[in-house]
Amino acid sequence: MAVPKKKISKSRRNMRRAHDSLTTAAQTECENCGEVKRPHHVCGSCGYYDGREVVEIDSVA
Ligand SMILES: [Zn+2]
Repeated sequence: MAVPKKKISKSRRNMRRAHDSLTTAAQTECENCGEVKRPHHVCGSCGYYDGREVVEIDSVA
């Protein structure tokens, strides 16, 4: 329910915001190339997932 700004004390406002902090994204190492990647996601560096290549990555360099 919307409550006027002035009716909320600094304490109540800050207690509400105590849960607002961002958490860092989970990260693991790719078993194929060792690059840092998100768990349960295809590796953005080599395109491998679960020990096999699932996406082709055309490297320019
Ligand atoms: Zn990889």
